[in-house]
Amino acid sequence: MAKFQAPRGTRDLLPADMAVWQRLEDLGAKLAATYGYQPIETPLFEDTEVFERGIGEVTDIVEKELFRIKSPGSDEERWALRPEPTAGICRAYVEHGMHTLPQPVKLTSWGPMFRYDRPQAGRYRQFWQFDVEAIGDAGPAIDAEVIELALRFVREAGVENVELHLNSIGDAACRPGYIAALVDYMSGHAAELPELEQRRLAANPLRLLDTKDAQTLAILEGAPTMDAHLCPACRDHFDSLLAHLASLGIEPRRAPRLVRGLDYYTRTAFELYQRGAQGQQSALGGGGRYDGLIEQLGGPSTPAVGWAAGIERIMLAMGEEAGSTARDAFLAAADDDQRQRALTLAIELRHAGLSAEVDLAGRGLKGQLKHANRIGARHVLILEADGSLQMRDMESGEQHQVAPGEVLDELSS
Ligand code: AMP
Repeated sequence: MAKFQAPRGTRDLLPADMAVWQRLEDLGAKLAATYGYQPIETPLFEDTEVFERGIGEVTDIVEKELFRIKSPGSDEERWALRPEPTAGICRAYVEHGMHTLPQPVKLTSWGPMFRYDRPQAGRYRQFWQFDVEAIGDAGPAIDAEVIELALRFVREAGVENVELHLNSIGDAACRPGYIAALVDYMSGHAAELPELEQRRLAANPLRLLDTKDAQTLAILEGAPTMDAHLCPACRDHFDSLLAHLASLGIEPRRAPRLVRGLDYYTRTAFELYQRGAQGQQSALGGGGRYDGLIEQLGGPSTPAVGWAAGIERIMLAMGEEAGSTARDAFLAAADDDQRQRALTLAIELRHAGLSAEVDLAGRGLKGQLKHANRIGARHVLILEADGSLQMRDMESGEQHQVAPGEVLDELSS
């Protein structure tokens, strides 16, 4: 066994993984551009407070999962690795005065997130998200736009049977009433709750709905739901969102207890699942509206909505085999005199945008053909001693002579 291994909960992305990975990144970038979302990159770490304020102090992400960093020579954990992209993007929106730009500001990013979670299948300590945020529009049409984009990304990635789970979690006007009803109900069961959940009941009762504890989940079955407590404005927003989605042919599954694990959400909350897949690790992505976050981070009151999809989860759900690292052509020299000619032709093909390999290890012709096969070359061009060129299709085994001027056309066809 190797002496060193990647840290627990992280993994190396090897060239075979990267082929699928890059396809997803390209797909995300292409879709985001078509819908008018522009790329943004923010630092991998931020002031810890950016996450504490936005995500909420009494949440799993901040309480248990934040990778906190001390500045050298200090005991203060001033920074933290980003556990999600939205808080950092909103910090950037405020810092750069983006409220003066035409609204909404539509942003997208792709990159690693860090959560000190217990690693298991589909749950890593470093994982990638593709993210989309529309800041400065109160919706609900834009909520429908981002949801449709989320579904499209996951489906075009190749995941089948994708289901949208949707809820409204109200706003500052109606959520307190709901929380009071929830507390009232849960207090009657306080003695049956584990210590962590009892603490949540006292400090941040809505987080009880994110519980992973089986006993608490069973108690929650009988708990009141937000739906009955929505104020008229939130009700209208939600009904209108449903109508917009219907006009796009999207039928969500209502998820009355879906609150998402972060405090900053208001009104719309959603997650994408693969139908039939069970459990917390199966969410492919999720998001919602966060109308209070920009203000919490020191900016003007600004409505916003967005989502992030988990790339590793999507790859698991795609069930796709490791991607191809195949080359378009391998150039095999029939004898030593042809080696220079093979190299020149390889360079010519590379300039034309094809991936071409040539033997640099001095293998004999048989060895070169074997190597071409092992690296998955689609075609082998054999430079014969008499100066002629043979082209072999490695899949069909078919071989024929080609004129030098026709190589490019044949390989590109
Ligand atoms: P969240 O905002 O926590 O719902 O995360 C959004 C998406 O990121 C989830 O639906 C997952 O697909 C993915 N995700 C979240 N946490 C992890 C993790 N620890 N490992 C891998 N993917 C994750």
